[in-house]
Amino acid sequence: MSFSFDIKKSDSGSLARVGTINTPHGPIQTPAFIPVGTKATVKSVLPESMKDLGSQALLSNAYHLYLQPGSDILDEAGGLAKFMNWPGPTFTDSGGFQVLSLGVGFKKVLAMDAQTTRHDDVIAGNKDRLAHVDDEGVTFKSHLDGSMHRFTPEVSMQVQHQIGADIMFAFDECTTLHNTRPYQELAMDRTYAWAIRCLDEHKRLTEERVGKPYQALFGVIQGAQYEDLRKKAATDLGSLESNGQSFDGFGIGGALDKGQLGTIVSWVNEILPEDKPRHLLGIGAPEDLFVGVENGCDTFDCVLASRIARTSAVYTMEGRFNLSNSRFKRDFTPIDSECDCYTCTHYTRANMHHVFRGKEIISATLATIHNERFIVRLVDQMRQALMDGNFADMKADFLGRYTHRSGQSRD
Ligand SMILES: [Zn+2]
Repeated sequence: MSFSFDIKKSDSGSLARVGTINTPHGPIQTPAFIPVGTKATVKSVLPESMKDLGSQALLSNAYHLYLQPGSDILDEAGGLAKFMNWPGPTFTDSGGFQVLSLGVGFKKVLAMDAQTTRHDDVIAGNKDRLAHVDDEGVTFKSHLDGSMHRFTPEVSMQVQHQIGADIMFAFDECTTLHNTRPYQELAMDRTYAWAIRCLDEHKRLTEERVGKPYQALFGVIQGAQYEDLRKKAATDLGSLESNGQSFDGFGIGGALDKGQLGTIVSWVNEILPEDKPRHLLGIGAPEDLFVGVENGCDTFDCVLASRIARTSAVYTMEGRFNLSNSRFKRDFTPIDSECDCYTCTHYTRANMHHVFRGKEIISATLATIHNERFIVRLVDQMRQALMDGNFADMKADFLGRYTHRSGQSRD
């Protein structure tokens, strides 16, 4: 089995579309939210539970798996899906973002505020620069043991082929909104040169690894908040072909100013080939998912749903709140009375409040199941609304309720 993308319906009033991505490990109905299991595991939740809550695919990270347990181990195990006991499709992020975020010492947050200072040497306070970029690749220090490593486009492809995910991403230079315009241009030229090297190495590895399921490669569109750079990247990578090999789909990555998310994504998606899937990297807050879907993105991934769950923060139809708040001590209702997840059908807010206060391990499991279900289901509902032709109404209805209580929906 190989890789394909079929569009079932295109929305008349927006760039949104409904489709199916077919992979050797099964189909993904799009638009879809892809939960993140960074190190080949969704923290605190069994793969069986992820399947039960409606997850169609999972995304892991090549950088983390390369360092531990080692991509050769996953290759020997029969690939990522088999290794992690996940019966469906998988994605791997190229490692570019993680490696480059070591460089600036920022937290793993793609969306940033463009209103702050902008220069190329900015690093977060009290952090050492752990990565150095040159035209050939990136040299970085492991966050685990301080050992030195080097990623090049070729190494990223070799690592991702060994990991064996159905969908991989090209190795790119991920900048921040703090970088200067000349640096963004330099990084974009580098990402383009690396894209060609990724395609060539991907083709070589696909031919060499006879008998392995086909792994699709997505190019990554950079360009920060600049219209001309984003459009150039979409034009150049969208039509790029090297030795007969072109990208199977595209990731929209890099620094995304959340206030301009829809504008930036539409610049890119109006140019990218219509018949290839588009993944919006690292975006997963409810309001942002609507913006991504209506501007033509097919899949999304984000660590937010599981990360905030472990701090007792949960999504509900009425907005986001923290279960550790004392107002839930005697609240015997579910987290969200409209949610059909295992947690909401078996547990109360009072119980959740208790397990979070007591730092019980089950608190992370229960809250993660709920948050992942909430986001997966929300995007499923968007897909259904697109099929039914009432996406705009569904969006207005959701956002009218979701934001009316508080402005806490953002990180
Ligand atoms: Zn729930």
